[in-house]
Amino acid sequence: MYPFEYNELKTKFVVTYFIQMKFNTKTIHGGQEHDKAYGSVTAPIYQTTTYAQSTPGDHKGYGYSRTHNPTRNAVENAFASIENGKYGLAFGSGVAAIDAILKLLKPGDEVISTSDLYGGTYRLFTKIYEAFGVKFHFIGMDNAENIESYINNNTKLIWVETPTNPILKIIDIKAVSKVTKRHNVLLAVDNTFATPYLQRPLDLGADIVMHSATKYLGGHSDVVMGALVVKDKGLADKLYFIQNASGAICGPQDSFLVLRGIKTLHVRMQRHCENGKAVAEYLANHPKVENVYWPGFESHPNHNIAKSQMDDYGGVLSFSTMGNDYNTAIKIVENLKLFTLAESLGGVESLSGHPASMSHASIPKEEREKIGIIDSLIRLSVGIEDIDDLINDLKQALG
Ligand SMILES: *Cc1c(COP(=O)(O)O)cnc(C)c1O
Repeated sequence: MYPFEYNELKTKFVVTYFIQMKFNTKTIHGGQEHDKAYGSVTAPIYQTTTYAQSTPGDHKGYGYSRTHNPTRNAVENAFASIENGKYGLAFGSGVAAIDAILKLLKPGDEVISTSDLYGGTYRLFTKIYEAFGVKFHFIGMDNAENIESYINNNTKLIWVETPTNPILKIIDIKAVSKVTKRHNVLLAVDNTFATPYLQRPLDLGADIVMHSATKYLGGHSDVVMGALVVKDKGLADKLYFIQNASGAICGPQDSFLVLRGIKTLHVRMQRHCENGKAVAEYLANHPKVENVYWPGFESHPNHNIAKSQMDDYGGVLSFSTMGNDYNTAIKIVENLKLFTLAESLGGVESLSGHPASMSHASIPKEEREKIGIIDSLIRLSVGIEDIDDLINDLKQALG
């Protein structure tokens, strides 16, 4: 049977049939049903704050839009479906989704996180939650057994991001989940880079999967949103309570846009992966390029884990140029025409970034270089344009 259940809070507007679906069908139909009012094939945008009641408390399942909104519920069901989970939650941004997870904790609790992680996540952990008395350990998780020595009675959460940004390291989710299960600690995985097209953390033993839907799920660089998906009802109820109590929800227009984005996730990802591979191979053979960070290469230190836990290697990669010169890297990103120099990733259009001066500029140079973010490092989010045009653009910019 198609493994999809609903929290009873959400049963008023959701599918009543169960059907087995593969991933490429779930992106289009997962958790969706035609609108009950007029049969609209796409989820209508319910741009409303409130819902009429016939007598106090008697409504059609929706009382107030912070708590529930039919368009948001539709995208939440889609999140749950594509991640092989049961309960989905949508937030106003990726960091708002992470914030909701951290609100499961209390002062004195400890978190163990991958050291190589999204800057906004690091900022939330260290600048907001440390002040509330939560303790964080940032460690290398290339070997999952490393985690063991940091676990104590206060440890409540392990935070994993894989592939990592911008060095594209791969963490073995299954191996980490064996450790978290042994110690009864929650495992959350940021699946933004891989998307469920490539990697399904809940199937690998994670308790919570998180997304910046701003990236590949939305896919068109036009909406900021976050997502969480879980399987356990008790955990889902706690997170729904936090979502409503803290209120970092997303609006119905944005919910509609991400629903529309998800419908083409599988075809976009297929092309992102093809183009990513072609760009990685082109750069690896370029005389001015020193290193290419892409988990699809057999020489990548975590290639075997990538091969076993991912279905392909995605559209994000980084490279460094010979001589590690700051100004050369700046010149290249300025010269690129199709690869727009911009923050973010995962949209249909190709983007470039210079981590040392952009996303990771706040990390001191020495610290930065320890994790591999050298001055000549350039990150690419390879889009779905014609590959010949993308290669030509790189050729002229490197020339
Ligand atoms: C962008 C990003 C986030 C934060 O998401 P926002 O939607 O920008 O709040 C978290 N994790 C990763 C890996 C990201 O790329």
